[in-house]
Parts: sequence; structure tokens; C-alpha cells
Amino acid sequence: MHEMGIAMQIVEIAIASIPADLENARIDRVNLKVGKLAAVVPESLRFCFQIAAQDTPLHHADLHIEEIPVVARCTDCQVEWTVHEPVFRCEQCSSGSVEVISGRELDIISIEVVDEDTTDAD
Ligand SMILES: [Zn+2]
Repeated sequence: MHEMGIAMQIVEIAIASIPADLENARIDRVNLKVGKLAAVVPESLRFCFQIAAQDTPLHHADLHIEEIPVVARCTDCQVEWTVHEPVFRCEQCSSGSVEVISGRELDIISIEVVDEDTTDAD
């Protein structure tokens, strides 16, 4: 399953981003941007993330997925539009010379780390 590999990478990157001086740090939330052409099913990725996050500082983390629409641009007339169906033809001039300018992203935007020591200070 392709999502499992991605989930494991997210966990690895998130753990690597925890500052070394935070001994009891845990990850509260991971914000992810996923293009609709990245061939990732958000539900499936969330499910895999829960498995991959077990026994790591991410086990309570919330995976927030922002889906990025597919945007294409016609290389003939430069018009840009959001693609809703897999027909890659310019909406304006019908040219088939179209490039995808967004929709393939799979980026971690931010990782929110909490230091447990400071949260239960009394
Ligand atoms: Zn065009």
C-alpha cells in the first residue's frame, strides 16, 4: 500500500524535527498538503498514519490533510483552470498542449510539537 510508505515517512520526518533538548516532546499535529494528483486517499493515509505512529511521539498526533486541486495551464493561450475530470484539453482554445501546474504536491507544511513537561507543570 502506497499510503503506508508515505505515512512512515511522515512519522520519520516528524520525529527528526523534534528539538533534541525536549525530552518529553510529543507531536500534537502534522499539517500536510496533498495534491489531488498525488494519488493519495486521505482516509487511507490517516489510517496508515495511525498505525505508523504507534509507539512513537506521534501516537496522539492529529494528521491534518489539505487537499490541493489540480490546476492546469494551456501552453498555447496561457489560460489556467481547475481540473475536475481527467480531460486535459484547454477550456478556452481546446488546445491539447496543457501542463499541470499544481496538484502533485505532497508536502509537510508544519509539525506542532508539545513538551509534556510544560503542559503538566503545577
Ligand atoms: Zn488554450
